[in-house]
Amino acid sequence: MDLGIRGRTALVCAASKGLGRACAVSLARAGVRVVITARGREALEATASEIRKASGIEVTAVVGDITTDEGRRAALAACPAPDILVTNAGGPPTGDFREWDRDAWLKAINANMLTPIELIKATVDGMISRRFGRVVNITSTSVKAPIPALGLSNGARAGLTGFIAGLARQTAKHNVTINNLLPGSFLTDRTRQTIAGFAKASGLTEEQVAADRLRSIPAGRLGDPSEFGDACAYLCSAQASYVTGQNFLIDGGAYPGTF
Ligand code: NAP
Repeated sequence: MDLGIRGRTALVCAASKGLGRACAVSLARAGVRVVITARGREALEATASEIRKASGIEVTAVVGDITTDEGRRAALAACPAPDILVTNAGGPPTGDFREWDRDAWLKAINANMLTPIELIKATVDGMISRRFGRVVNITSTSVKAPIPALGLSNGARAGLTGFIAGLARQTAKHNVTINNLLPGSFLTDRTRQTIAGFAKASGLTEEQVAADRLRSIPAGRLGDPSEFGDACAYLCSAQASYVTGQNFLIDGGAYPGTF
């Protein structure tokens, strides 16, 4: 399917690895010029070069911490008027809320709520004036079904989700949609880290936690990041202009609710 976005420009944050990278790959495959960011230069340059080679598309790599003013300034200087914005940053640590001080909370809220809001604020009015915009926020299943050891994620991402629910209804008439993609368990470094964190908290081995995780996923496997990237590309497509303010679970059926 031609997604109708060939020649558009996307800013894809935190995209040298994992789910952000997969979104950049799928968008480039649809003909979108991508600007990707991450803190580590080596992996970022390697990803940029792989995407360039595979798609023949222009890829710009911007090194920086997207959760800082400086990192966002650098990303926006390289991509001042994106048609597509994919917000993403690392997830917060696992743990018990009794261990988290105010700074731990502020860090999670900054990374997983305020950073996407700042990026949207800097780009959405341009999208509105050009009458095309697609924003996809990478959040988590934790906004739908809280994960006990990930209280920082449950809390900070719920704040973003509530804000987006309001804003998405204000931009839709300008053909600017804003949606959230909620990953379940995908085969990425982050999943390896959270499995290690859950093992530490529960006293189980990492192998036991991983086996329990697989048993809880009706699909019987972890997700392939490319499945996530392709869903992102669809939400950024011309065809998805009537889809806004939604929270899409991509979790192999792990969330057990009817809705
Ligand atoms: P990942 O495999 O660890 O990749 C994270 C990517 O983000 C890397 O490219 C990393 O590069 C970059 N990054 C991290 N912090 C950054 C920052 N402050 N500024 C710029 N770039 C940054 O993680 P993932 O699995 O793709 O997860 C992406 C998001 O989805 C996270 O918020 C995670 O909590 C959430 N999530 C993931 C899953 C899953 O199954 N994977 C499930 C639920 C939620 P550098 O380290 O070099 O900066």
